[in-house]
Amino acid sequence: MRAMILDQPGKPLTLRDVSVPEPRGCQVQLQVLACAVCRTDLHVVDGELPNPKLPLILGHEIVGRVTRVGEQATLLPIGQRVGVPWLGWTDGECSYCRAGKENLCPNARFTGYTLDGGYAEFTVADERYCVPIPESYSDAGAAPLLCAGLIGYRSLVRAGDAKRLGIYGFGAAAHIVTQVARHQGRSVYAFTRPGDAEAQRFAKEQGAAWAGRSDERPPEELDAAIIFAPVGALVPAALAAVRKGGTVVCGGIHMSDIPSFSYDLLWGERSVCSVANLTRKDAAEFMDIAPKVPVRTTTQPFALEQANEALNQLRSGKLQGAAVLKCDRAP
Ligand SMILES: [Zn+2]
Ligand SMILES: [Zn+2]
Repeated sequence: MRAMILDQPGKPLTLRDVSVPEPRGCQVQLQVLACAVCRTDLHVVDGELPNPKLPLILGHEIVGRVTRVGEQATLLPIGQRVGVPWLGWTDGECSYCRAGKENLCPNARFTGYTLDGGYAEFTVADERYCVPIPESYSDAGAAPLLCAGLIGYRSLVRAGDAKRLGIYGFGAAAHIVTQVARHQGRSVYAFTRPGDAEAQRFAKEQGAAWAGRSDERPPEELDAAIIFAPVGALVPAALAAVRKGGTVVCGGIHMSDIPSFSYDLLWGERSVCSVANLTRKDAAEFMDIAPKVPVRTTTQPFALEQANEALNQLRSGKLQGAAVLKCDRAP
């Protein structure tokens, strides 16, 4: 099969022919139908996340069809379409797992980071961590739901019942969260890189009540804010924009250092927290909600061999919505 492979962080991916992985134990083998490109992939390529599996096949927003099953796999029939998210395996035994916080499991394995992922024609995944895909979604349309959607949704839940919600960084996660937040009757205030008029227009198209620069104050105080951009300087900016008692949720896996700031910004029982990974419960809840909103994803298609190009466009902020690799061979 063809796969885009990362041999070393800091180097581009290379297209290679490798053998199709065999499903073992509770794994299923999947033909990859589509795989979305996430900012986390960029952090792995840039060496900002420690100790990836190497060589590595990236990609943790996989839509695939079951082609074979391992000897202990009993849940998914051959031919079933499923999604494979970031959380690929947990030990099920540690104190976090037993407390329903498997997202914090110290032995967790992650798709496209410590396990091979979906920048390939085939992959294998533990069937217990696969997610059903709502029927109304196309392969490419569903792919961004699997991380931008799931982690975005976990971030939204963490923001509590905030009516006025700020979102910093308007990419794949933000465009999904905005639709869910609007559906729940909230108002969204979108903050983009200064000068990015296109992202501001895109945010308004998705239902944002206001869109402006990340160094601007919104027209009203916010009840909570979610930061998706990997920029630590946005933490004090977001704290300055939320009301007393408000929460700032850091939704990304990596962020540049947070500059020191006056205690005044945190005073008044404001809080800052992060969202790490996801649980299978998040996935089930979000996949139930998405078709009811209905969440409509904006995607830009790339061929598998164009993965480096997709990553570069994500890095430069040129993408609107999510880049999605079409991994099956063109007929
Ligand atoms: Zn992701
Ligand atoms: Zn555990």
